[in-house]
Amino acid sequence: MQNAAGVTAKTNPRDQMGRPLRDLRISLLDQCNFRCPYCMPETEFHADYEFLTRQQRLSHDEIVRLASIAVNLGVTKLRLTGGEPLLDKKVADLVARLAKIEGVDDLALTTNAMLLAPVAQKLAAAGLHRVTISLDTLDTDIFRAMSGGRGDLATVIKGIEAAEQAGLSPVKINTVVQRGVNDHTVLDLLEHFRGSGHIVRLIEYMDVGNRNNWRLEEVVSSRESLQQIETRWPVRPVDPTYHGEVARRYEYVDGAGEIGFISSVTEPFCGSCSRARLSADGVLYTCLFASAGTSLRDPMRNGADDEELADILSRIWLRRNDRYSELRPTDAPLKRMRSKVEMYRVGG
Ligand code: SAM
Ligand code: SF4
Ligand code: SF4
Repeated sequence: MQNAAGVTAKTNPRDQMGRPLRDLRISLLDQCNFRCPYCMPETEFHADYEFLTRQQRLSHDEIVRLASIAVNLGVTKLRLTGGEPLLDKKVADLVARLAKIEGVDDLALTTNAMLLAPVAQKLAAAGLHRVTISLDTLDTDIFRAMSGGRGDLATVIKGIEAAEQAGLSPVKINTVVQRGVNDHTVLDLLEHFRGSGHIVRLIEYMDVGNRNNWRLEEVVSSRESLQQIETRWPVRPVDPTYHGEVARRYEYVDGAGEIGFISSVTEPFCGSCSRARLSADGVLYTCLFASAGTSLRDPMRNGADDEELADILSRIWLRRNDRYSELRPTDAPLKRMRSKVEMYRVGG
C-alpha cells in the first residue's frame, strides 16, 4: 500500500501531508491523583466518574507489543503519560521492557511528580532516559488550586530533585500559563530554575477536550510571555535541536539556561507533527484534538497478528490529514465545540 508520496506502508509511513510517524505517546491509565481544572475539572471527574477498568485497559504485554510494532514502522520516541503514569505501580517494569526495544532512541515520561521521588532511581535503572514534570507555579496556594486541591508543592519539588539525582535529565518543566490564574507567577518560577540545568517550557493554555471551559481570553500567548521575560532578563532564540521540535527555544544571554515556548494556539506547528497517541484502552489518535480514534486493542484481542496490526496502524497514518491548530483561528465558535478527545486520555 502506498500513499500520495509513494512511500510504502510497511516502513516509515507518511501521512497525507508527508509527515512521518516518529513519536508514540502511550497513556498508561486515565486516572489521576490531581484534578487540574484545565484538564480534569473536579466537577466532571468526581467520585462517581467511571474510569476504565483494568480489563478495558491495555496490559503491559499489549503495550509492549503495540510499541514494538510502531517502532518497526519508524517510531523512535516513546513517551509514557496518562492520566498520571506513576499511578501504575509496575511502571518501572514496563519501562525496562520498552527500553529493550531496538530502535527506541528516546524513552521519556510525563508526570505531575507527586509520586516521583521514591521511584526516580528505579525508573532510571530500568532504562528511562528523562522525565518531563508538570509544574505551573511555585506559589503554594495557586499550585494547590491548579492541582484541584490535591497537589503538594514540596513533594513535587522533591520529585524534581530526585529526577535530577537519578540522571533523568535534562529535566523539562511544563508550565501551562493561564491568564488571571498563574501568569503573574511565571517570572518567579523561571527565576527558581535559572542555572539549574532544567528547562522550563511555557505552554499556551489549549482548548483540548470539551470539559475545561476553555476561553481564548485566558490564553497568554508565547509572545506576551516572552515580552514579560525580557523585562527581567535578556534572552535570545536558539536553533531547534531536531526537526519537528515542538518548543521554540530561547536562552538567557547570561548563560543561565534555556526556556521553551509551546505555542499551539498562536503559532501552530502541525506541519512537522509526527506524533500518534495511544489511549489507555488502546485507541490510536492521530491528533491531540481528534474527535475519534481507531481501536488497536479490539483487533489485537480478536487475534490479529503483528503484521495485521502493523497494517492497521500504517493505514491510519497514511490517511491522516490532521492540522487542528492551524485551522483553529478561522474556526467558528460553534465548530470549536465539536467533540474532542480529552487530554487525560491522550496525555498531552
Ligand atoms: N499527569 C501527567 C502530568 O500532568 O504531567 C501527564 C498527563 S498531562 C495530561 C500532560 C500535560 O498536559 C501536562 O504537562 C499538562 O500541563 C498538559 N495539559 C493538560 N491540559 C492542558 C491544557 N488545557 N492546555 C495545555 N496543556 C495542558
Ligand atoms: Fe492529572 Fe496531568 Fe491532567 Fe493535571 S494535567 S489533571 S496532573 S493528567
Ligand atoms: Fe499535531 Fe494535531 Fe497538535 Fe497539529 S493540532 S500539532 S496535528 S496534535
